[in-house]
Amino acid sequence: MNKVMIITGASRGIGAATAVAAANQGYRVCVNYHSDRISAEKVVHQITESGGSAIAIQADISDESAVVGLFKQSCEAMGPPTVLVNNAGILETGSISSINSARLQRVFALNVFGAFYCAREAVKLMSTDCGGVGGSIVNVSSVAAKMGSPDEYIDYAASKGAVDTMTIGLAKEVAGQGIRVNAVRPGVIHTDIHASGGEPDRVNRVSKSVPMKRGGEPEEIAAAILWLASDEAAYCTGSFIDVSGGR
Ligand code: NAP
Repeated sequence: MNKVMIITGASRGIGAATAVAAANQGYRVCVNYHSDRISAEKVVHQITESGGSAIAIQADISDESAVVGLFKQSCEAMGPPTVLVNNAGILETGSISSINSARLQRVFALNVFGAFYCAREAVKLMSTDCGGVGGSIVNVSSVAAKMGSPDEYIDYAASKGAVDTMTIGLAKEVAGQGIRVNAVRPGVIHTDIHASGGEPDRVNRVSKSVPMKRGGEPEEIAAAILWLASDEAAYCTGSFIDVSGGR
């Protein structure tokens, strides 16, 4: 079977680690990125150098028509996806007084709307009702969905709460169409998202309150994503794995 994985936001961080690990497991990988073409191409190069197959495709996941284009381009290059990893996400730091319409629009447009657009396109291609062979969707949520992230970013936490609810509902909606839908909830992980969100040293600050006393590595999240995507998780749908050092 042609194993094809589309990973949104795979130019760095958790998405890039998932792309490399997936290629090692024989997936052909679509490395989506937004603005950092050079980093996306480095991920592709790392995969192809090791004998794997990957392409980089630019698309703003918060833009519905761009998502449609991403799936079209990916299908033309590699065939229909068997796995979608809804990974692209952003956060902005600041308590309720700093949350305004523009910030809410940015966070929800990508973290929630984008995840829905991608899931819809994947279902169309995977559904056995539409002539597909089934497949798997793995949403990258966050433990923030359970903790609420007071004084940091309750809007981001709420967006991940929406992703969790979507995971549960979509899992039930498409279970009869050969599609499993699950989610991974990372804790605090060493990636650039914290710097992009306004607090570069966040992992070190928060690590002290993690029961395991350290931040996680992107590869540790990738391992859970790949397990949920795999046949070993064939009876899991609507399931969540927290990879958070006990947080
Ligand atoms: P990251 O290092 O900041 O990487 C973000 C990725 O998303 C980049 O590849 C970026 O592409 C892409 N991206 C940003 N905006 C996009 C858009 N509009 N359209 C398409 N791609 C876009 O983030 P990360 O830490 O790996 O996070 C990955 C996921 O894990 C996110 O959903 C995040 O919420 C979740 N998560 C992370 C942590 C953590 O501590 N790191 C914890 C819990 C959950 P460009 O480089 O091209 O801009």
